[in-house]
Amino acid sequence: FINRATPVLDEEGNLMQWIGTSTNINDFKILAAQKDTFLGIASHELKTPLTSLKLYAQVLERMLRKTGDEKNAEFAKKMDVQIIKLTSLIGDLLDVTKINSGKIYLNETHFDFEKLVIETIEEQQLSTDFTIEMHIEKSGTVFADKDRVSQVITNFISNAIKYSPNTQKIIARVERVENNIQFSVQDFGIGIPEDKKDKVFEQYYRVSGDEETTFPGLGLGLFISAQIVERSNGKIWVNSIPEKGSSFCFSLPVANQ
Ligand code: ADP
Repeated sequence: FINRATPVLDEEGNLMQWIGTSTNINDFKILAAQKDTFLGIASHELKTPLTSLKLYAQVLERMLRKTGDEKNAEFAKKMDVQIIKLTSLIGDLLDVTKINSGKIYLNETHFDFEKLVIETIEEQQLSTDFTIEMHIEKSGTVFADKDRVSQVITNFISNAIKYSPNTQKIIARVERVENNIQFSVQDFGIGIPEDKKDKVFEQYYRVSGDEETTFPGLGLGLFISAQIVERSNGKIWVNSIPEKGSSFCFSLPVANQ
């Protein structure tokens, strides 16, 4: 129970009575769990039709290209890009329900970190006109969930692109810092105010500003990224200067094999 009470005083300031409320926080907990269960079921159900939509869009694009209809093939490709965005949003919702119910499982293996970074960035470069510059040091092997680490890299890069309305370049770096491998993405975009820097890793948190409506999102990507990195014994942080840009970083321990 949460109890709140306010004193009621007479004209001379003498205490006459207390008025209070008592709230059963169990009700909130039950509601929060129900919300997560619903989100979990809804996002799971939405994923299935999207998978076939994606397949149809790809087949359509290929057919149109074959017949030389480049203009309509471009529309089909745009459809595919939007389907990818939708799939990723739904994936985030599903991940959040897994995290909140303690059911996110990491499938950890040993893998070459810089190889994963290059693969992930090359894949993302296909769907953007931004120049993604890479400065990659030979860094070593980590023990973590490869798909989940790739998800964090993808999240940093898509945010860097999304929050850079007036520039066209971002820089991805991999460095070895003592016994850790550090990955960072630097952008030259809108930046983040000092007092909001830690909050961006919280669930559903979005920095609000004049332009917030021009940047769509659910405020989940960085929360999920932080959970993945922390559960892999790593660290996640951001350096940023408003209107100059941000550098999102994470580090993972080098694996002893
Ligand atoms: P979303 O982008 O869907 O809102 P995220 O969890 O990925 O959710 O990010 C949370 C918030 O952090 C964003 O709403 C935005 O305000 C801020 N943010 C994230 N990345 C950047 C960036 N590269 N530059 C400026 N702000 C950012």
